[in-house]
Amino acid sequence: MRLKNRLLKTPRARKRKNKRMAILPPSPANLQLCVQQLEAGKLIGLPTETVYGLAADATNGEAIAAIYATKQRPQFNPLISHVTSLEMARKLGVFNPQAEKLAATFWPGPLTLVVPRQPDCPIDPLVSAGLESIALRCPAHPVAQDLLSLFGKPLAAPSANPSGRLSPSLAAHVADLLPEIDVLDGGACAIGLESTIIGCLDDSSVWLRAGGLSRGDIEACLGQRLTDIPTDDEKTAKLAPGRLASHYAPQAKLRLNVSTASDDEILLGFGPDAPATAANLSPRGDLQEAASQLFAQLHALDADAVASNKTLAVMPIPQHGLGEAINDRLQRAAR
Ligand code: AMP
Ligand code: MG
Repeated sequence: MRLKNRLLKTPRARKRKNKRMAILPPSPANLQLCVQQLEAGKLIGLPTETVYGLAADATNGEAIAAIYATKQRPQFNPLISHVTSLEMARKLGVFNPQAEKLAATFWPGPLTLVVPRQPDCPIDPLVSAGLESIALRCPAHPVAQDLLSLFGKPLAAPSANPSGRLSPSLAAHVADLLPEIDVLDGGACAIGLESTIIGCLDDSSVWLRAGGLSRGDIEACLGQRLTDIPTDDEKTAKLAPGRLASHYAPQAKLRLNVSTASDDEILLGFGPDAPATAANLSPRGDLQEAASQLFAQLHALDADAVASNKTLAVMPIPQHGLGEAINDRLQRAAR
């Protein structure tokens, strides 16, 4: 705490003393402070060569829920997890020969690879928005690399802007857009454009998002053309979530806004009114906690429901704060 007070007296921070955030020069002491904040589940503004990210411990579901809340995203789009190296990435995702080649050639750099999650992947399911895949990137920015090395765990980080606003390419942009967030000052982002995203889930690598690396460079590396996002619904849902109404769907049928489950239903509760025996997204009725539990609990209950041939029934979730994103996901899953 004392360290933080001292930091607030740096000239840049003093100018913003009526706000709670600080622009932190990337000194060893400040990097250490950021690691402590990340360990405590807090969010940090992270410089990368693409844009500034809003970073959190990718293994901490509540911290990930805080990212969505801070960005005021009305939907749970999956997030990119940042790693220090290909070696670290291999422990999280399964790299096929194409993914290996792309990572070996373009990492560290503005390339995100979507790969299957390793069975024991410690990244929270909310980062993947319930999908079986994970988006990984090794950033080149030295401050991002330093923080990742010190932290030792993957950092989930979408762009550090509220939904619908321009992505930040300076620490000062983050300070203006998200005044409550401490941001490490890594100068101007060299690329200033989001990463290119390639899907490597099977033999055909898929062009998912244009960004800081050109299609031609990637195709030259692979020695083959990239596939465009398939139009087939099921594949699209897996590769380009957000483009389709049906995104993550449990196998069991899902009924929403249920107060009392019938005998052939398994109840997923919310809040203190739920029966004590039922699974509960947040017994205290906290939407951020509920968001952090959503995909993990749906997956677990779905398996039970399929095994016992039952339907899933979800109690009403209030439509404010993260409730909007939770309801959006549940409605898509119920279709
Ligand atoms: P950003 O806001 O830059 O973090 O954007 C993240 C984007 O990465 C999302 O909009 C998704 O389209 C994409 N993405 C992340 N994870 C996955 C995944 N598992 N499968 C497909 N796309 C993903
Ligand atoms: Mg963004």
